[in-house]
Amino acid sequence: DAISVSNLAKIIGVASFEQKLQNLGIEYVSHDHLLNAEEASLIAMEYNLNPVVNSEAAIDLFSKPKPVDMSKYPLRSPVVAILGHVDHGKTTLLDTLRKSSVAAGEAGGITQHIGAFSVTLPSERTITFLDTPGHAAFSAMRARGAHVTDIVVLVVAADDGIMPQTLEAIKHAKDAGVPMIVAINKIDRHNANSQKVRESLLANGVELEEYGGETQSVEISGLTGQGLDQLEEAIITLAELSDLRAEVDIEAEGAVIESQMEKGKGYVATILVKRGTLKQGDIIVAGTTWCKVRMMTNEKSQIIKNALPSTPVKVIGWKELPVAGDEVFQATDEELAKIVVANRKLKSSREQQLKDLEVINEKRRQRKHELETERANSRNFKKEVWMFHQGLLKEYPMAVPHKQDIKEEKSLLDTNIRELNVVIKADVSGTSEAIIDALHGLGNKEVRVNIIDSGVGDITESDIHMANISKALVLGFNVKADKKVQLQARIDNVDMKFYEVIYHLLDEIKEQLSELLPPVV
Ligand code: GDP
Repeated sequence: DAISVSNLAKIIGVASFEQKLQNLGIEYVSHDHLLNAEEASLIAMEYNLNPVVNSEAAIDLFSKPKPVDMSKYPLRSPVVAILGHVDHGKTTLLDTLRKSSVAAGEAGGITQHIGAFSVTLPSERTITFLDTPGHAAFSAMRARGAHVTDIVVLVVAADDGIMPQTLEAIKHAKDAGVPMIVAINKIDRHNANSQKVRESLLANGVELEEYGGETQSVEISGLTGQGLDQLEEAIITLAELSDLRAEVDIEAEGAVIESQMEKGKGYVATILVKRGTLKQGDIIVAGTTWCKVRMMTNEKSQIIKNALPSTPVKVIGWKELPVAGDEVFQATDEELAKIVVANRKLKSSREQQLKDLEVINEKRRQRKHELETERANSRNFKKEVWMFHQGLLKEYPMAVPHKQDIKEEKSLLDTNIRELNVVIKADVSGTSEAIIDALHGLGNKEVRVNIIDSGVGDITESDIHMANISKALVLGFNVKADKKVQLQARIDNVDMKFYEVIYHLLDEIKEQLSELLPPVV
């Protein structure tokens, strides 16, 4: 457990406690210096406070302030996302770029998809490309707070021009405040018209250099590789302009680009390092899971010991699966990682509990209100009956029906629909959903299937109970019912039907529904 000097001062409510620190033998330290629990407690006691060491403070440890002056830190490679309309050539471009790195004489085998890859140019400069094209991935990452993209390359096919997703991509880049380069693609096509593309870009608010604006445009063919050098140059130029730098000698920070379960490796996640250096053996936290970095590999499956800023690495050693877009922070040790993860889980479960409680309370309030009205009505009714008997009222009073009665009456009144109640049990949830969908499609204005309950696994006594009280039929798909359940069904007079083929089930239900139809006279 630890807390920064400035956070502790905030909690105590003082501007600073330099003197107290010196009393403790701690010389002047910066505001983000971390005090351990013991030091913090001693200082708190100096202010006559009764310190309770609370590990929740650990969560805040991670938000390290960004230095104001970045100029003394080393340059880092730009991280590029490729956006554009479907079929305008994003995937092809990424494939060609991926190969170009190998062609440039880099050692190593075939490039694997890990969510991002780095291309080394003849000038030794490198560019990192995120290789999940598509706006959904870009937005999802941003929504989770992972700001990893430095530059957007907007791909526009020269034979097709500006399309809806082109405009969407322009909006995404603008909203994210990420500078853009336009790649006018498929320039090898005979019907390519790059001039027309430029003009319509201008008409849509993209200020190209050719027209005195700041956005570079490059003519390329992702297929033949024509113009890719110029595209890479344009990226480097823009990166230099943006002066992308990051500290190297601090604990690692980054973002999860992709994650999955891999046979023999367990949970793996591609991390893009944003600040600091990620090393083998480091302890990192992402969302509500943590990892002791057992092994890191790059996109060529080579083992990496140190990952610098802007480097994508596949990390093995996660306790649970992290989510793409989660921010990654380094913890000093396993103990801290566990505390932070536990706190975060607790926090989110508490938030969920509060939400649930709110729903429950609302229902209770409604029910209470209903009960009060019902009681008032019934008191009034009794009073009026008494008055009637006393001759004070001419007519016998009308009872106000209870809400429950009203509902039932209403449903009897405004619908003549006859329903076949069913309880569904299937071997897997996908099947049960498919059956539910199919059954919902069977009804018409007069008859329909009403699904009382559905679930996965063998039929249980509680399914029979459910079916009994709702007069439902139990449909089992690729599941069984044991002796006890069969007995219970017989006692309760509940019908169970078993199927292995969906259309057999549907045929049977259709049959039953038609039997429900009123006789034609
Ligand atoms: P995405 O949907 O944006 O990822 O587009 P794809 O990369 O899948 O490309 C769609 C189609 O356009 C494919 O048939 C590609 O072969 C073709 N294509 C992509 N780039 C070029 C190019 O530069 N020139 C030509 N002639 N065809 C291309």
